Amino acid sequence: MSQHITMIGAGLVGSLMSIYLGQRGYKVDVHDKLPDIRNTTIPAGRSINLALANRGIRALQQVGVMDKVERLLIPMKGRMLHDVTGKLTLQPYGQKDEEVIYSVSRAGLVSLLRDEAEATGNVTFHFESKLTEIDPDNKTLTLKNEKTDVETSQQYDILLGTDGAGSKTRRTLESLGVKGFSSDLLEHSYKELTIPAGSESPFQIEKEALHIWPRGGYMLIALPNLDGSFTVTLFMPNKGKISFETLNTRPKVEDFFNENFSDVLDLIPNVAEDFFTNPTGILGTVRSKNWAHGDVLLFGDASHAIVPFHGQGMNCGFEDCSELHRLLNKHSDDWQKVINEFTSVRRDNADAIADMALENYVEMRDSVRDPQFQLKKAIAFKLEQRFPTQFIPRYSMVMFHHMPYSEAYRRGKVQSEILSQLANDNQSIDDIDWLLASKLVQDKLNPISKEFLH
Ligand SMILES: Cc1cc2nc3c(=O)[nH]c(=O)nc-3n(C[C@H](O)[C@H](O)[C@H](O)COP(=O)(O)OP(=O)(O)OC[C@H]3O[C@@H](n4cnc5c(N)ncnc54)[C@H](O)[C@@H]3O)c2cc1C
Repeated sequence: MSQHITMIGAGLVGSLMSIYLGQRGYKVDVHDKLPDIRNTTIPAGRSINLALANRGIRALQQVGVMDKVERLLIPMKGRMLHDVTGKLTLQPYGQKDEEVIYSVSRAGLVSLLRDEAEATGNVTFHFESKLTEIDPDNKTLTLKNEKTDVETSQQYDILLGTDGAGSKTRRTLESLGVKGFSSDLLEHSYKELTIPAGSESPFQIEKEALHIWPRGGYMLIALPNLDGSFTVTLFMPNKGKISFETLNTRPKVEDFFNENFSDVLDLIPNVAEDFFTNPTGILGTVRSKNWAHGDVLLFGDASHAIVPFHGQGMNCGFEDCSELHRLLNKHSDDWQKVINEFTSVRRDNADAIADMALENYVEMRDSVRDPQFQLKKAIAFKLEQRFPTQFIPRYSMVMFHHMPYSEAYRRGKVQSEILSQLANDNQSIDDIDWLLASKLVQDKLNPISKEFLH
């Protein structure tokens, strides 16, 4: 392969894409402004683990690394809801054995992907090498060595921007007059805390679940780690009566946890200390009308960062990689054609998952407690059993199948109307009019194309 690929950002998406490209025979140079996570310890409180689902898994299988990734995974079968009294209820995510999502360490996964990329023999990572400028007309970029502060310019053939939500690649294009980018900050932020492994049994709460303490306007969640610890995240408004602004003293934080999350308080030693030591992370949505500009292509969070409430940011970015690979096959590595087509293949899907992720925040922190929500979920499972090629709950379409996000979003809206009509005023699944259910499904939902299932 004569063309050389330059990538900015060796995060999850950049590292995976470099494997695809290395395997295709491209010489790839990947620059990342941070030191290599394989040789450094991650500061506390920085998104330690994440949920991996079907779309991400497919891409990892495609490049042949899934066997190794499996060793890093803990299955999560459903949401374990903790009410204020400490009562637990498991809401399964799906209804088949394989319908689970997986908790994975961010550092573990990214390290593995970097190792695999290097093993292709074609990928070179340059750490502490920060993009500072791009000149698309002359196809040059400037990189600053973070250790020496020395800046150097170099030519590129194809420049891939996988440098995350705050992408310098995207901001540079914007500053050069490229229009169509938007960033919307959520008025809520997050704080990570830790439940350490226990001394007698390592997992102090149910291991195979994603724990949620839904409290209406805010929530706490926890995902398991292999060592028995849990990464706990508090999502809460920035301002207002109960907010990051008002939780400004240790006693206030302790009282807040005692009142709302008493069952977990004993498991998080030094909750107030960690609360003030760990950073508060911002959340937002980035949308881009056009992901390409000349020979520069943005993807992953760089073009479509989303809020984390559907656990799909990485999964969507991994799907970007497999779609880019598909287009390279389709166009026999003609990059201009690939770059030109990529936006139209991905943008509506990225916008759809961005919207669904925002909607899911309300579901996770509030609706999950509502009996009508629970009834609709039960009806949805029954409809899936009866009409498996027509009705699949939206969560399942997103997490366990690989139909385009935009199609899952569209079908989800129709399904939501059907569920509202059926659940209306009913108390129990036994009250549902299944003849009406059958008519609504047949009238409103065409069969799902087989290629989109699993
Ligand atoms: C709290 C939280 C929880 C999440 N949970 C999930 C989840 O459960 N499931 C899921 O699928 N997704 C989740 N996500 C989203 C997921 O983290 C992102 O979608 C994913 O990290 C995107 O990968 P990326 O490679 O595009 O960007 P990043 O992972 O952000 O990587 C970008 C890389 O670019 C580098 N970089 C930045 N600027 C420069 C520069 N100027 N020069 C050189 N390098 C640069 C950075 O150092 C970084 O290594 C979560 C996000 C958050 C915040």
